Amino acid sequence: MAASSEQSQGGPGAPARRRGTESSRVSTYRTETFARLATPLAEVFGAKTAKVLAAVGLHDLDDLMYYVPRDYLSGTQRTDLSTLTVGERAAVVAEVGARGAEAIRGDQNRWRLEASLTDGTGFLGLTFFGRKHIVDYWLRQLGMGDHGIFVGRIGEFRGALQMTHPTFIMLDAQGQVVGQASDERQQIARVVSKSSMIGIYPARAALPTWQIAECVGIGLDLLKGIADPLPEAVRSGEQLAGLWQAYCLVHRPDNAEDIERGRRRLKFDEALALQLAMVLRRSEASKHHAAAITVVPDGLLHGFDAGLPFSLTDGQRRVGEEIAADMARGTPMQRLLQGEVGSGKTVVALRAMLAAVDAGHQAVLVAPTEVLAEQHAATFRTLMGPLAQAGTLGAPAQATALTLLTGSVNGKARSHALSEISSGRAGIVVGTHALFGADVRFADLALLVIDEQHRFGVEQRAVLADRADRQPHELVLTATPIPRSVAMTIFGDLDVSTLAERPRGAGQVQTTAVLTAVHPGWLSRVWQRLREEALAGHQCFVICPRIGPKDEIGERADISAANAEEVYERLRGHELSGIEVGLMHGRLSATAKREVMRGFAQGSPRVLVATSVVEVGVDIADASAMVVLDADRFGVSALHQLRGRIGRGGQPAICLLVSGADPQSPAAERLAALESSSDGFELAELDLAQRREGDVLGAEQSGGHSTLRLLRVIDDEDIVERAKVVAQRLHAEGTLETDDGLRDMVAAVHRRSEASWLERD
Ligand code: ADP
Ligand code: MG
Repeated sequence: MAASSEQSQGGPGAPARRRGTESSRVSTYRTETFARLATPLAEVFGAKTAKVLAAVGLHDLDDLMYYVPRDYLSGTQRTDLSTLTVGERAAVVAEVGARGAEAIRGDQNRWRLEASLTDGTGFLGLTFFGRKHIVDYWLRQLGMGDHGIFVGRIGEFRGALQMTHPTFIMLDAQGQVVGQASDERQQIARVVSKSSMIGIYPARAALPTWQIAECVGIGLDLLKGIADPLPEAVRSGEQLAGLWQAYCLVHRPDNAEDIERGRRRLKFDEALALQLAMVLRRSEASKHHAAAITVVPDGLLHGFDAGLPFSLTDGQRRVGEEIAADMARGTPMQRLLQGEVGSGKTVVALRAMLAAVDAGHQAVLVAPTEVLAEQHAATFRTLMGPLAQAGTLGAPAQATALTLLTGSVNGKARSHALSEISSGRAGIVVGTHALFGADVRFADLALLVIDEQHRFGVEQRAVLADRADRQPHELVLTATPIPRSVAMTIFGDLDVSTLAERPRGAGQVQTTAVLTAVHPGWLSRVWQRLREEALAGHQCFVICPRIGPKDEIGERADISAANAEEVYERLRGHELSGIEVGLMHGRLSATAKREVMRGFAQGSPRVLVATSVVEVGVDIADASAMVVLDADRFGVSALHQLRGRIGRGGQPAICLLVSGADPQSPAAERLAALESSSDGFELAELDLAQRREGDVLGAEQSGGHSTLRLLRVIDDEDIVERAKVVAQRLHAEGTLETDDGLRDMVAAVHRRSEASWLERD
């Protein structure tokens, strides 16, 4: 605590106040290192500072060490002014040359101070504005020939480099801070004296970068000497910096290589901890038993295949074999099946379910909405024909029964469904989260298929797996393409199967960006086109980013974007008058939503004005056109998902992305990417590159994993790859079971992910 004793009272360095919080610190960690890293910041800096730090998500020393500068300033030795570039944030050490002040246009209340810094050869202008007495104060500080540190962004004025309102401190000949400096100036002085590159942290008004730097400095002192949790063999094998050294390298580097080396170590730890957690989860799962399902000749599956009106694609066949191989083992399958909308996942899933029934068990498919569950059940009945009609006259011997259970199945129908499920008569069960109800008992559940998994929590899945001696195989279907790097980082505990091609016959969607900034007249042609589609007997979607005139998009108050309610009224009254138009959005009641979607699936209305709630939507075979208004408000992947809703009947379809974006803007470029590519993976990569991973890997899609800290799934694929290899080796060697440091690394991941869940609400 050497550094803190010099601090002024109440500052970030105020001595730690321990007020009986000792019990809250009971550590679940085995090593001294992790116990120290878990020290709450309130214990180090006091409650007041800790509160400010908590606002940027920093709770313990570990968080603080991972809060790395977003930028570095260099050159606290006399700066070579010729190296400065416009736009850069710099800390400049230089001498004051000429300076002077004058009232702006004779207004005695508004003065401008101009000064010129020099390094002996070059010059840098400074400009300040203020009232006369303040400007006079600055003038006194900026003595001719004195030198100081000036921190700010380098701008340009009339062809010369300059800084406006830099924060500055003046130094005496010994390099000591001169005069009665403000808190901030004192902090700058202290920070500047520590290293030759100065980290600039992501700061807030209440938490300037200098204060963070001081906190980090104190943290570094406290952590000095901690043992490195990484086994020496791994560290040298991967040529990684030591842990404490890495903290120093990122926070107080001497050069760019230091930063790189430090960051690499911290990212590696992050990647390794995740990979270790997954290795463990996998090995844990493999200790459970599951029904070993082998394909029987002349069973349901056989009959089903024989009656299919089409032949399976190569992809469907291959994925089917991967699933069959998993299910044949006595350990639970954990497989993710990804494929775009229309790629034929449903058939693949149903075939797996039939194999389970053939082996004498039950299989269940859980869908995110009632409409989807009903549609799945209907599709299954159609595809299975008499094979789903056990007990009726003329049903083949191997036939089973199919039961639907959703929230709106009530009364007698519900008790009937429950008894079908508990007696085992229903081999195939389809439903919604209603299946997680306490009164639902399966006779013998062997396969759980989850459609669009991000709608379900991990806990809910656990409920279905209620037989202690055996767990069901699990197949998760997702239409959200997950790039390899993400799959490896986040879904590393699942095996991934991919359906890359769409079956022949699926329609092509022709996508066109309609940029109204260039062609204002095109919007009326869009409606004309939609009218023609509707009159030709097809169905159309009109998608808007907002529900009503007062609704915001997400957290942004973007009230200029089109809203469904107004667009609905307008189209009905004008552009599409005489055509049946419907409205669908998330604020409608569940029943109303269901009614609208059911009607639309049956052909009425012709045109549906909606928000993106239709994203995970139903199969409207007739839909041939989609107009997305203010399309630039949606992410690339979301738009790609949306357009997957049309052209499903095999007919050609058009998707018109209307946007007021400037043709040169990144937004317009994203829309152009959608015009030229129909590859969901490529588009997802693009999406990832443009958004922060946090958004992409939010709890929704990642199934509750905490967001990453320094690791970036796209840029750091090589690190994740290395970490994966190392994790598997450590596990195979048995080191993972015995090494306290590694076990703590994993414990820390779990702790953080729990914490991020708690913070969410
Ligand atoms: P997904 O579940 O991936 O969105 P589906 O399984 O619903 O895709 O398939 C989309 C459409 O393609 C359905 O109408 C389905 O019957 C049809 N289909 C599936 N597999 C094939 C195939 N091999 N050949 C032709 N049509 C297929
Ligand atoms: Mg589907």
